[in-house]
This record gives sequence, C-alpha cells and structure tokens, in this order.
Amino acid sequence: MSQTTKYIWFNGEMVEWDRAQVHVMTHALHYGSSVFEGIRAYDTPNGTAVFRLKEHIQRLFDSAKIYWMEMPFDKAAIEQACCDIVTKNGMKSAYLRPLAFIGNVGLGVLPKSDKVEVMIGALPWGAYLGDDALANGVDVMVSSWSRLAPNTIPTGAKAGGNYLSSQLIAREARRNGYVEGIALDTNGYISEGSGENLFIIKNGVLYTSPATSGILPGITRDTIMTLARELGYTIREESLQREALYLADEIFMCGTAAEITPVSSVDRMQIGEGRRGPITEAIQKSFFGLFNGETEDKWGWLTPVSK
Ligand code: PMP
Repeated sequence: MSQTTKYIWFNGEMVEWDRAQVHVMTHALHYGSSVFEGIRAYDTPNGTAVFRLKEHIQRLFDSAKIYWMEMPFDKAAIEQACCDIVTKNGMKSAYLRPLAFIGNVGLGVLPKSDKVEVMIGALPWGAYLGDDALANGVDVMVSSWSRLAPNTIPTGAKAGGNYLSSQLIAREARRNGYVEGIALDTNGYISEGSGENLFIIKNGVLYTSPATSGILPGITRDTIMTLARELGYTIREESLQREALYLADEIFMCGTAAEITPVSSVDRMQIGEGRRGPITEAIQKSFFGLFNGETEDKWGWLTPVSK
C-alpha cells in the first residue's frame, strides 16, 4: 500500500511509514496471532477527539488476555500513543488501527514467547460502506457462511484470525452484487455483518442480537443502545430469526468504520420504504451530534488528542 501518512507508532517510537516493517517469519503472518482495534478520531468543535478510546483499549487488552499475549505497554501508554500518532501526523480526523501481534519468534503454532509487538497507524478514512450509504442505505445479503460457533474461536476477542470468516462473508456479498453480507450463527439466528453489528427496528422497538449469537459486542452498538434509550426507545437483545430481517420496518448496521449505515434491502427484498427510516435517522442525528457538538457528551466518550 502506498504511504498515506508520515508516521506509524511502532513499539514505542514514531517510525516513518516505510520503516514500519516486520520480518516474513512473523508468527502472526503464519498463524493469525494478532489482536487489534479500529477507533475513530473526529474533528469536533473542541478540536480533534478520539471516540471511546478507553473502551477500545480495554477491548484490545481483553483480546490479548484471551490469547495469553503479554502487552509490553500499559493501557495508559497505548491510549496516549493513539492521541500522539494523530497529532504527529497533523490530522484533524483519523481511523486508528492499534495492532498487537506475535512477532518473529520462530516456527511452531504455540509461540515461543508471549511478548507482543504493538503498532498504531492513523489513516484517513471516510464512510466505510460508500459515500451515500449513510443517507441512502445499502443492499445486503444473508451469507451462506455462518459466524464462528461458540467454543471454536471466541468472537468476543477482536483477533486477526476472526477476519478470515469476515472476508468470506464480505467477498461472497461483493461477488454477488451486494455491499455487505449478514451472517447467521450456527443455530440459524441472526448474528452480524462482516464488520458491523446489526439493529432491526419493528413497531418502534430496536432489536439486536445478543453476545451469544457469535457477534463481536461492538462499542458503537453499546453507544447506540445508550443514545436510543435517551431518545426514549426500547431496546431488546434477543435471538432473531432470519425472517425478522425481511419483515423489519428499518434495519441499520453499525460499527466504528460503518458508523450507522441503513440497510435498504436484504436478499433483494425491500426493507420498509427502501431507504433510511425515521428512527435510523434520529439515532444517526444523535450519534453524529456527538462530533458536531449538537449532542452533549454526558458520558465522557470523547478524549481530546491534545490537552
Ligand atoms: N462486528 C465485527 C465483526 C467487527 O469487526 C466490528 C468492527 N470492530 C463490529 C462488529 C463493530 O464493533 P465496534 O462498534 O466496536 O467498531
């Protein structure tokens, strides 16, 4: 990939883009031993701020713990590095990618060292599912691939290897002319998109799949649950059958990259009016209001990159 920003934070130092390299024997390349995060920094009226930084870094450390990876920095240091890399690159907004991985420790599935290397990139990144997706919605399909079954690979950890499943789901969707795929879990209940959680709206109530449906319990999902309750909506975390998609009044997908993206059709069946519905729009307004100053940040979710 061509250089998009000047610096990458790598193992505690600001390294020039071209010099942020690893060896081909890196364990993570061979065995998928990496955990990561995707975080957004927004250009707010009070300056550039990272959204829910603490929760993302906590999840990074939780993911590392599940895989017995030893983080060589504490959470505060990684949080600070996330802020510093945005400032160092002179960016007003950014998509942050902290990644912790097992490096060149030799061959063998079980790593010979649990010590990990850590990098944080800050990249310019717009709307993940297309520029007009936030307003007009996207066409999605139910994937022929199921999400990871419990007791196989833990979906609550955001680990590199999990994204092989996501790649199959996303590629199948693209090859069939859809923007995104939705996977069912191994019991046939609705799980999530390849990189997004899902909300289904029916008769004014918001439904979302529980953690037991093979989802990554997203931080955007949690944000939306909080904001939607503030707006007076009821939210239910429930196992949902596939037909709930087809009969929904509105559906939207959510994630750090996708933000809040309405779904206009599933398997070519139109959802509601086939465009962004009113509840989705109200929740989007409240969500994006956090970044343009219209929604008060009562929760301390925004961390300024420079004090
Ligand atoms: N599910 C998957 C599989 C994801 O990759 C993501 C993106 N991290 C999400 C859900 C949404 O999580 P978040 O809102 O924390 O970005």
